[in-house]
Order: sequence, then structure tokens, then C-alpha cells
Amino acid sequence: MNNSKIWLSSPHMGGNEQKFVNEAFDTNWVAPLGPNVNGLEMDLENYLGSESHVGALSSGTAAIHLGLILLGVQAGDEVICQSMTFSASANPILYLGATPVFIDSEEETWNICPVALEEAIIDRITKGKKPKAIIAVHLYGVPYQIEAVKAISDKYGIPVLEDSAEALGSSYKGQKCGTFGDIGVLSFNGNKIITTSGGGAIVTPSKELKEKAVFYATQSRDDAPHYQHSEIGYNYRMSNICAGIGRGQMEVLDAHVQLRRNMHDFYEDLFQDIYAVTVFSVPNDDYFANYWLTAIVVEPNAAVGIDRETLRLAFEQANIESRPLWKPMHLQPIFKIYPYYGANVAENLFKKGLCLPSGSNLTDSERQRIKEVIINFFK
Ligand SMILES: *Cc1c(COP(=O)(O)O)cnc(C)c1O
Repeated sequence: MNNSKIWLSSPHMGGNEQKFVNEAFDTNWVAPLGPNVNGLEMDLENYLGSESHVGALSSGTAAIHLGLILLGVQAGDEVICQSMTFSASANPILYLGATPVFIDSEEETWNICPVALEEAIIDRITKGKKPKAIIAVHLYGVPYQIEAVKAISDKYGIPVLEDSAEALGSSYKGQKCGTFGDIGVLSFNGNKIITTSGGGAIVTPSKELKEKAVFYATQSRDDAPHYQHSEIGYNYRMSNICAGIGRGQMEVLDAHVQLRRNMHDFYEDLFQDIYAVTVFSVPNDDYFANYWLTAIVVEPNAAVGIDRETLRLAFEQANIESRPLWKPMHLQPIFKIYPYYGANVAENLFKKGLCLPSGSNLTDSERQRIKEVIINFFK
């Protein structure tokens, strides 16, 4: 039997990526600008709708970094950030010499808890500093509580940086994720819903902000015949080669979202009668998830040796990758010295949660192998 590695999420080409890359070679646009960069930005703007303006960048992390700069974050400021996320959501706060303030998750979407968020804002203001921005994340493609977070953002006048790195193709009440924040962020890393091998984008409702982001991303060159700079610059623009891959990927985005959602259905069916396991799903029909990764919670049962880790090892034995949920930032060695608000929702999810292979390119025989591990493990 074929026992090749089954990955959590691997690149899945649609077919036309190489055509766009070849065009870049044929016309010698082998640079961090060119027709594919503009084309990918237009494709994304059309896809996201809501009059969004998109700047293609070298990574999602770069987009978060520039996003915080555009929101005016400076050294000494405080920035609120969802604790349960990938470290790339929080690292740019430290790049800027600002202080992260971490917030627990709520149970429904596993994302930033509005109650803890407001408690934190009030407490930080009482302590003398109003936070400069709120970083909220759509984990695994499930939208956060958009209306509650927006209401708090409006009430206190604190902008939202919407980390939509995992949520391209997700939506809330029909509006696409990435378009809800004052700034939105996308990622096209190799393991994301679509990939440019590595890349990201910044999304804003303002043409001026997009242009400012591109200005910063291309070394902040003033308008002069020589190289002149009045502001700190960065080399964060996406290359025209990578953007070519992205244009091909945009053609298959919706199809791949559907395939990921099919994987989620597959797991829901499998775990239907296994009471120890809950499949992470949207709370109601207002939410539409791309299910970038399907995640489960395993209730531990010491008597029969069942928990998240024994299940992970059973998958590993079968050469199948699975992974614990993101370890919350407030529990990370690098971040644990910073303030944290909330209880232990994120911590408990981390202890019990596991991400399962969810790629849009998994085959029937690979699904069969996954199914066998699960059935043997829980029998
Ligand atoms: C992947 C990811 C990022 C970073 O994107 P890169 O393109 O890898 O820099 C940021 N936030 C979250 C939640 C992510 O999953």
C-alpha cells in the first residue's frame, strides 16, 4: 500500500500558474513589480468586493507590519492581539517596539473574546494608555465575532487590524473576510488556502492607504530623480513571478474552498458517532468558513488512553501529519511577560485541539487512510 506522507495542507496548483510565470519570463518582468502584481491585485479586489484596495506584498507578516505602521503604532504604544494565533500576528508589534496585550478566545469561534477585549481596553485606559489597535484573527478560516468586535472598536475609537491570513474565501453575512477591518491582511504562504510560494497582501477601504503601503513596501522613495527618502522604507513588495502563481491560483480559489469544505464534511461524518470528539464548526449560518484546516477537540479519557496527543501519535505512525492548535501567545516563552486578559479558553483548546489533514488536493485513498486511523483509534 502507498504510505507516502499525508500533509496537513500542501500547495495545490490549478494549472494556469505556469502560464502567468512564463509570461513574466517572456516579457522580462522578473522584478518586484509588473503586470502580474497589478493583475493579482485586481483579481483580489474583484474577489473581495466592498470597494477594497489591495497591495500585494512579500508575506502576510509584512502586511501586518505595514498595517500597524499605517495605523500609527509607534514604540511604547500598546497593541491588543488575540492570544490564540500564529506568532506572525504578534511579532510585528515587537518589531515596532510596541507592547502586545493578549486576549483570550471565546468558545464559539475560538477567536478574540469581546468580553475580555472590552475589559482589557477599560483596564489599559485606567492604567494610563489607550491601546492603538486591535488585531483580531479568523482562525482556521472561521470568522471572529465581527459585529461585537466592531462595536467595541467604534465605542473606544480603536482601529481593527483584521488578520485574514487563514480566511481568504470565508465570509460573514455574505461579506468577504479581509474587508471588515480598518486594515485587512492576507497570506499566500505555501500552506495557506492559495499560495504564491510565499506572499501576502494588505487590504484597505482607502486608495490612499493602499498607495502608502506600497510606498513603504518599496523603500519609501520620495518623488525625485535621485534616491531620496524622508521616511523609513521596507523591501516588502511581491515579486512578479510569485504574483503569476497567485493569478493562476485565483482562478481556482472558490473550487478549492469547496474542496476544503468537503474535507470538513468528511470529518463531520466520521466523528458523528464518536462522542469524545467535536469538530470545530461555524456557530450559525451568518458565518461561512473556508475551513482552511479542519480542527477537532478531543475530550481526554485516561481510562482508555485517549487524548489529543495519543491520537496525534497514531496519525504519525501512519505517516499522516496532524498538529496541535496554535499555542496561545501568552503561553509562549517570548511573549509571556506581556499583559493578558481573559480566562483559560484558549489554553484548554490548545490542550485538547488537533488540526487534521485538510488540503484541497487529498485523494480518496488518502481519505481512506485517514479514516482507518480514526476508526482503529476509537474502536
Ligand atoms: C500564516 C499566517 C500569518 C503570516 O503569514 P505569512 O505569509 O506566512 O507571513 C499571519 N497570521 C496568521 C493567523 C497566519 O496563519
